[in-house]
Amino acid sequence: MNHPVPPAAVNPRRPFPADLATALKTAFGERVSMSEAVRAHHGRDESPFDPVPPDAVVFAQSTDDVRTAVELCGRYGVPIIPYGNGSSLEGHLLAVEGGVSIDLSGMNRVLSINAEDLTATVEAGVSRKALNEALRDTGLFFPIDPGADASIGGMSATRASGTNAVRYGTMRENVLGLTVVLADGRIVTTGTRARKSSAGYDLTRLFVGSEGTLGVITEITVRLYPLPEAVSAAVCAFPTMGDAVRTVIETIQLGVPVARVEFVDALAIRAINRHSNMTLTESPTLFFEFHGTDASVAEQAERVQEIAAEHAGSGFAWATRPEERSRLWNARHNAYFAMLQLKPGSRALSTDVCVPISRLAECVVETEEDLRGSPLPCPIVGHVGDGNFHICMLIDPAKPAELAEAERLNRRVVERALRMDGTCTGEHGVGLHKMGFLLDEHGADAIGVMRAVKHALDPRNLMNPGKIFSYDA
Ligand SMILES: Cc1cc2nc3c(=O)[nH]c(=O)nc-3n(C[C@H](O)[C@H](O)[C@H](O)COP(=O)(O)OP(=O)(O)OC[C@H]3O[C@@H](n4cnc5c(N)ncnc54)[C@H](O)[C@@H]3O)c2cc1C
Repeated sequence: MNHPVPPAAVNPRRPFPADLATALKTAFGERVSMSEAVRAHHGRDESPFDPVPPDAVVFAQSTDDVRTAVELCGRYGVPIIPYGNGSSLEGHLLAVEGGVSIDLSGMNRVLSINAEDLTATVEAGVSRKALNEALRDTGLFFPIDPGADASIGGMSATRASGTNAVRYGTMRENVLGLTVVLADGRIVTTGTRARKSSAGYDLTRLFVGSEGTLGVITEITVRLYPLPEAVSAAVCAFPTMGDAVRTVIETIQLGVPVARVEFVDALAIRAINRHSNMTLTESPTLFFEFHGTDASVAEQAERVQEIAAEHAGSGFAWATRPEERSRLWNARHNAYFAMLQLKPGSRALSTDVCVPISRLAECVVETEEDLRGSPLPCPIVGHVGDGNFHICMLIDPAKPAELAEAERLNRRVVERALRMDGTCTGEHGVGLHKMGFLLDEHGADAIGVMRAVKHALDPRNLMNPGKIFSYDA
């Protein structure tokens, strides 16, 4: 047993009629599976929750396949759970009311690359790395990088971001248009390839971040960026977390256009050193990346070094050679797996909050004090340039007391972020784990509007039910 699903999310399973199983087999043949292993794989994500498998999994290869599966499920009142790459962290994929998982990983075609307009249109199952591979000879890249090799559909559905967001924005800023199959089988397209539009309600942004609860995204048009002429990286250690975070705040407030600035606490650095065979100083550390021309990259690095020095930063090491840079950033990207090794056999209960940059130091320092009093190892890492940080609480899944302690810490950090005008999740999304915080963050009237949208688009609550907020309350 890992982590039982929170009771609020345990809704009755809806019946899965034999006639639907037959209809799915007729429509999809080998591309529908009801095997226990396949269902179990699709009823879990990277959260510590126990899996809750769907009744069947359809492997879609086209928008038409998705529409067929959605229409069949609709006929029998059976839920639909879109599946990208399974890397989400908040219980997004658990089939809490049963239903059919629609796996989009077979929709992996890059449909067009419009280099002149800096856009690409992809099927939802294309992963971010696959898109960048397809862009290799174009001089362009797609910058959004959640640590996992997530699908562009899943990233759109969770409004993902990652280390580059401080410079390039999140999926919210980088999705220009979508094709979406609605609960009743209608196919809508939103947006155009134009970089801006004032034409009516912004449906693109309604679906971005909807976590599969409003429709299945099948195609996405995203923005691309020219590869920077020069890239350099730097790493700098600080005596305290407060010093590191104040360096970031000043860097952002002074408008230095850093491409990445990541905070890693001393415990996470210890994990990285062991896992990636590095010798970084085991104290609070910032990782930077600078993009631009040779001159601007050098200027940014110098400016940041000065700011860091004012905050007691030491050992500012600057990496310009590609292999040095990738060693540093690979180590940062593998931090999650490195941190798990701090407590062998553990699972991570991850949480992410985001606050206005002016409150970041206060929020991180209070959180650090709180975690110091806990028996759990709780390394902190964060995309601090955005005011976003993560705690990775390492728990023994067999010990309910550790789970309760992790949930207590999670509640405290979320309440702290909300008190500081922040959000309960900067990038991981709500899933079912953070449902309890949405009312505090948005208030009853705003949740009522969200519920009205959900009722209008999905009156029978078929699309990923039991996630984000309760349908009926
Ligand atoms: C080690 C690690 C590091 C991570 N770091 C980050 C990070 O830095 N930043 C960040 O933002 N996230 C991060 N994540 C979380 C995760 O990678 C993101 O949430 C990602 O966007 C999920 O994409 P996916 O394809 O795996 O989607 P899934 O996990 O398959 O699905 C996620 C949700 O989206 C819905 N969905 C999926 N595809 C579609 C679709 N086509 N249409 C409609 N709904 C859909 C699902 O129903 C589900 O609700 C990290 C995860 C791990 C394991």
